[in-house]
Amino acid sequence: MLIVFIGPPGAGKGTQSKLLLSYLGIPHLSTGELLREAKQQDSQVGRLAAQYMDHGRLVPDPLVLAMVGEKLERPQFQKGCLFDGFPRTLQQARSLDESLITRGTPLDLVLELKADENELTTRMLKRAAAEKRVDDNPETIAQRMNVYKKQTAPLLDYYRQQGKLATIDAMGPADDVFSRIKTTLDSRRAG
Ligand code: ADP
Repeated sequence: MLIVFIGPPGAGKGTQSKLLLSYLGIPHLSTGELLREAKQQDSQVGRLAAQYMDHGRLVPDPLVLAMVGEKLERPQFQKGCLFDGFPRTLQQARSLDESLITRGTPLDLVLELKADENELTTRMLKRAAAEKRVDDNPETIAQRMNVYKKQTAPLLDYYRQQGKLATIDAMGPADDVFSRIKTTLDSRRAG
């Protein structure tokens, strides 16, 4: 199973992909987490990535693609993967498709998490208080929303054309959202 989560910041991609991970038993690959780890380790890649992340801009495609490519070669990703926060640009999506086709394991499903902007902002400001992420302040949140609309939302059409897109209502409690995801998955698997 190869599944991509797409959604604006605060939509719950991380939360839902972790719930799905224990349901399906396949590993999770979050580019945001990998980049935050690199940043914490203060590696060269981390320092470069921080210049973009801290301002709510996307880290350049070549850096992200190299990082994901290296992970995907690992044995634990042979049986599947839940991509969280990746791909985020058309170039990333096309490159992912190419490498998965080469492996003979194309994407199965793309889950779009959809919620209104007020709820997203409220969630992120709450998270800011709990997790102290530097990019969860009002100015950077607005920038990330714009980046999502301009650079990531076009992927929805890309995957819709491939017949892989399912849109999930991501409003309300995480457990309710997860039930909707399970219903979508089960109906896809049955059909
Ligand atoms: P959110 O969806 O809440 O913005 P993420 O943890 O997915 O949180 O991403 C945090 C930041 O990491 C992004 O704003 C961006 O700077 C960087 N990032 C994560 N994934 C990618 C990606 N696939 N391509 C480029 N930049 C990325």
